[in-house]
Amino acid sequence: MDSVYGHYNRFASGKINIKEYFSKYSNLLKSCQFDHSNSTTDNSILQTMKTNLGKDEMSLLTEYCSIENLTVPDELPKVKGPLPVRRKNLNKVSVINEDFGLETLKQLIERNNSAEPYHYRFNSEIFIDYEQVKYDENSGDLAVQGEDILVYVRVYESFTHPSSQMKYRQRTCKPILKCVIEILGKQTLTDLRDKISCVSDLTIPVEVSNNPDQPLQPMAKDVYKSGFFYIEDTFYNDFRDPANLDYSAVIREWAKSRQLGPFYTASMENVRIDSLCVRFGYPWVYQHQGSCEHLIVFSDARLVSSDDDLRVSVYPRISRIRLQRTNYCFMCGILPVQWITTDHDRVPHIPCFFCESCFKSYNYVNGKKVGNFKAYRYPCDSSLIQENEEVT
Ligand SMILES: [Zn+2]
Ligand SMILES: [Zn+2]
Repeated sequence: MDSVYGHYNRFASGKINIKEYFSKYSNLLKSCQFDHSNSTTDNSILQTMKTNLGKDEMSLLTEYCSIENLTVPDELPKVKGPLPVRRKNLNKVSVINEDFGLETLKQLIERNNSAEPYHYRFNSEIFIDYEQVKYDENSGDLAVQGEDILVYVRVYESFTHPSSQMKYRQRTCKPILKCVIEILGKQTLTDLRDKISCVSDLTIPVEVSNNPDQPLQPMAKDVYKSGFFYIEDTFYNDFRDPANLDYSAVIREWAKSRQLGPFYTASMENVRIDSLCVRFGYPWVYQHQGSCEHLIVFSDARLVSSDDDLRVSVYPRISRIRLQRTNYCFMCGILPVQWITTDHDRVPHIPCFFCESCFKSYNYVNGKKVGNFKAYRYPCDSSLIQENEEVT
């Protein structure tokens, strides 16, 4: 496929077998006799330095090496506690001493005085701070520091195929990040798939206008379970349910007729993340619900360290998300949408979006449907609705 998409290699690493690369790196660290389990204690630091200092000398060395020595007057304030939700707030500085010769400060002054808006990296992403939970060796399966691998996967919003009917701006839309997932190397592609949440999975395509209080019907993800990841010429299909379809078959057929390929297939449930041979930074595809396509990018990987939550059960987890816009009710404009109506003879919008309260009060009198319309549940995670109802 490099003949078609080779230009993406400009932004990508070479092909890396994750397991092989990090086994070598882990062995290299071990050969340095670096103790991962205790890497921040004075003793382990002295051991790594292969020296034996007294208490006074050690505290003097700690003082000399303190990062406090790197600060200058009127510097950016040091961030204490959890990081601000929006990263752009980190860069607001009120006073900068212009006499200072630091090139970084000169650049900052120049940028602050510039009329051009400056786009910071990760500006639109929210970093998730997970609660620190105390655990010990009996807390179940634990990852091994310096051996297990954490891989970061960026998942993008579903891709809209440009058509000639679209306006130019719509045709050139940029991929929008959905979330960044951190997953252990020993977990599988199905673990990754189950962590990707998409609105097309949450759809309930059942018309319920005659009985809106009926129990929730199964969501699309419970009915149509097929899907694949396309990574380095291989389609990894989800065959956990034997009734699942091989979505890649029609694509492989199409590619064959155009002399593209060869392509391979495998079942994603048997494939460990670290067994993959990937180019970091290169866009791959996740497809589900027939034609819902998402770009995915392996953006980073590293060995697990003492600062990470070592409980295997907490992974895969979302480390960053992008703010989602809430759709509000067309009637009140205050509450979030919970219902979609179509073919409604008493509203001017097709489709029309209602919150729960407006939907019931406008469309039903004493529980009886008024007028003609079709009603569908707005896609959302029904388990969250149930939790919410239990709380209220
Ligand atoms: Zn999707
Ligand atoms: Zn409303």
